[in-house]
Amino acid sequence: MEFDTITAISTPMGEGAIAIVRLSGEEAIEIAAKLFRAKSNKRLWEMTSHTIHYGHIIDPKTEETVEEVMISLMRGPNTFTREDVVEINCHGGIVSVNRVLQLVLMNGARLAEPGEFTKRAFLNGRIDLSQAEAVMDLIRAKTDRAMNVALGQMEGRLSKLIRGLRQELLETLAHIEVNIDYPEYDDVEEMTHHLLVPKVENVKNEINNLLQTSSQGKILREGLSTVIIGRPNVGKSSLLNSLIHENKAIVTDIPGTTRDVIEEYVNVRGVPLKLVDTAGIRETEDIVERIGVEKSREVLKSADLILLVLNNNEELTVEDEKLFEAISGMDTIIIVNKTDLPTNISIEKVKQLANNQPVVTTSLLQEEGIDKLEEAISSLFFSGALEAGDMTYVSNSRHIALLNQASLAINEALEGIENHLPIDMVQIDLTRSWELLGEIIGDSMHESLINQLFSQFCLGK
Ligand code: GDP
Ligand code: ZN
Repeated sequence: MEFDTITAISTPMGEGAIAIVRLSGEEAIEIAAKLFRAKSNKRLWEMTSHTIHYGHIIDPKTEETVEEVMISLMRGPNTFTREDVVEINCHGGIVSVNRVLQLVLMNGARLAEPGEFTKRAFLNGRIDLSQAEAVMDLIRAKTDRAMNVALGQMEGRLSKLIRGLRQELLETLAHIEVNIDYPEYDDVEEMTHHLLVPKVENVKNEINNLLQTSSQGKILREGLSTVIIGRPNVGKSSLLNSLIHENKAIVTDIPGTTRDVIEEYVNVRGVPLKLVDTAGIRETEDIVERIGVEKSREVLKSADLILLVLNNNEELTVEDEKLFEAISGMDTIIIVNKTDLPTNISIEKVKQLANNQPVVTTSLLQEEGIDKLEEAISSLFFSGALEAGDMTYVSNSRHIALLNQASLAINEALEGIENHLPIDMVQIDLTRSWELLGEIIGDSMHESLINQLFSQFCLGK
């Protein structure tokens, strides 16, 4: 495919001082060459691919030096987009980076749309759709673990799995085809049961295994929305502070998306906790008193995790019991705080009310017990599963929805076989499942859907 040359500022992840103006397309090298004076005096097009060069960006009209730069030259197809790519590494802050960008634009490049570099990689066959989506996840990853999941997906781990499943379905469909075209080949009914059912069931199990990773995958990708509740003075603010201090707070700022999102996360053993601050429920002094048990249940229901703080130094109160009532059935960790003070609470009663949810004792004042709390958080959601580092997670809602639909179609196929429906009915369900899996990796996708997906990307990616 042939495309025009696009450009954007694409700042590398986690870097502040350097900004990169990236160009991709047929004229990328030509345009950059108009602006670049290499220290070596060589022209850009004379240089070998995949090399870096020191020099200056000069405004060709005024001959004025605009910026001191390092330029990376990469000829297609061995590039991310499979096109010629030039990256101009600028050091001089946002003003001069923008001047470089302006010059690139004035000399023939077009400003890239959000995600357009990745879209080109996809359209040029360099990556499939699930890999392209992983690029965005990687940008937004909140912890190392989340990053590993995204990296695995970008390397094509999920794609490979999906391709394997589609291949199996295709082989199954081929068997059916043979039997329809040559009915004398075998007894269709017998063949279906002996040959097809195990194959189809295998695909079904693999899809379901993938779906089982989805809740964890989603947590890693999107964070665990966490609400801290408790009576006044039990130590909620102290808990919040120690979570933030013990763990690096992650602030993600995602520019270039439709709305700029600034979210606050803490990284607890690889699990991104999103400390929810919606309508002041992050720190609820007396939510139950204020709005009643039913209402507060509704408010709290949007949380993935509730941290209920109690005071070790005081007997349980009616308010405490109401809080227990409000959170029953939700993922909760009970924190009995102030263990440095004499115990007046009945731990027996707490355990009874906790109803098998974990109970952790802390003295936030003396910084004790926070590690136990972190342990409880991580094992509540990941019970050891994360240790298998090379697991493939599905974390993307679009993928999860498609896998669910594919699983339904497979079940219908199996039921069809079970109920001795005509084999072409089974064929339809299997084909449908094959198509749905294909949408995950972007086979047979509508252009409008592709555009919509890529429009969620960040500028410069
Ligand atoms: P909140 O009202 O629930 O947010 O409670 P705060 O975190 O503001 O704490 C209320 C008071 O309890 C403050 O004076 C804290 O210093 C104190 N506090 C918090 N944790 C502990 C603890 O573990 N032991 C003791 N002795 N005091 C604590
Ligand atoms: Zn407070």
